[in-house]
Amino acid sequence: MYVPHYSVALATGQYARRAPLWALLTGTFLPDIVWIVLARAGVEPADSVHFFDDWSHSLFSTIVFATIFSCLFWRRGRCAVIGLWLVVFSHFVLDFPVHPRHIAAYPMGRLHLGSDSWITWGSRNGWLGWSNDWWLQFFVLLFFLGIYIIAAHRNLPWKVVATSCVALIGLQLITLAPCVGY
Ligand SMILES: [Zn+2]
Repeated sequence: MYVPHYSVALATGQYARRAPLWALLTGTFLPDIVWIVLARAGVEPADSVHFFDDWSHSLFSTIVFATIFSCLFWRRGRCAVIGLWLVVFSHFVLDFPVHPRHIAAYPMGRLHLGSDSWITWGSRNGWLGWSNDWWLQFFVLLFFLGIYIIAAHRNLPWKVVATSCVALIGLQLITLAPCVGY
């Protein structure tokens, strides 16, 4: 998933209010940031034949990233640390159902999570000919934007809330372009 990660960061920010927004947005993408670095280094090939992302996306790695990253903000208090931990860990939860391959439980291990039938279902066309994966991401996005709106309308100007929501829904629609994969 790409765009729904942002919505998790925005929603969490309304509850973990001492966690910096930049840290929430960075944390929610941390496994992908690691993946980009490792892919460039040739450690995690991104092509469909040799695809490998155990180091950046396995369950164990995500827990380690979440723990290290959130502890960097211990001065911000327990609420901020928990919020940041959850935001980083949410990357695994959100990627899991739409990942192109089974996600590893831990790097270089044999245990992988998920099922072939789920991956097949995700790649199938759903409403309007758009893939089931895309629709799943869209509804996850709407769910977390709903949480964001409920909390943010008391704290932020409505223009900020509305602009964030329109921007994220627009970004999700852009992923329908044939050149944008996930
Ligand atoms: Zn990812």
